[in-house]
Amino acid sequence: MTTASPDLTRIRCLNHGDREAVARCPGCHSYFCRECVIEHEGRMICASCLQAESQVSEKKSRSFRGLKSLGKILSAVFAFGVAWLFFMLVGRMVIWSKVGFDWLGNQ
Ligand SMILES: [Zn+2]
Ligand SMILES: [Zn+2]
Repeated sequence: MTTASPDLTRIRCLNHGDREAVARCPGCHSYFCRECVIEHEGRMICASCLQAESQVSEKKSRSFRGLKSLGKILSAVFAFGVAWLFFMLVGRMVIWSKVGFDWLGNQ
């Protein structure tokens, strides 16, 4: 991609009328100069959108943390279930090895 939009040289920064815009914010679709955009996760984004996004991501991470603890509980329940199944199976195998053989032999 070498095709920088030719219009960009004529477009001025939203905050600085005397400065050329170098990037268009994907959040608010406004043009900004080099000073007004910040690189964030590989994108050029304006300060106000970055702030808004960081607030959203903060909320997201908070709910994600809640989800994580739920996952921990679920995995603990799952581990308990697996352990229970394992011990039950071992118990059955012990019973089979002692009683099951006779029972099979009698048939
Ligand atoms: Zn923006
Ligand atoms: Zn600017």
